[in-house]
Amino acid sequence: MTKVQEYPGFAIEGCGKGKATWRLYTELCKGCGLCLVKCPINKKGDNCLKWSKEVGIYSTPAVEPDPTLCIACGTCERLCPDSAIRIDRN
Ligand code: SF4
Ligand code: SF4
Repeated sequence: MTKVQEYPGFAIEGCGKGKATWRLYTELCKGCGLCLVKCPINKKGDNCLKWSKEVGIYSTPAVEPDPTLCIACGTCERLCPDSAIRIDRN
């Protein structure tokens, strides 16, 4: 039997038109903001991925998406240098 140890974090359900769950592992997020800059919806001028009230490893804000805007494209998941984001498609 393999035990799976999940990192502490939070999940935002209903992304990608209800087909995906977006997760942030707070002990991995260092608050660099790279994901905010690279999110294609943010680049269009909408406020999809934004700073969260939850904090990351250095007690700086983590990030979270607006599920009504997030298209679950995976850009933030791929670009996070610390693998703090995971997107599960249902
Ligand atoms: S999720 Fe990753 S890219 Fe985004 S702020 Fe945290 S560490 Fe940086
Ligand atoms: S999955 Fe795509 S649209 Fe959703 S927050 Fe990440 S980069 Fe933005």
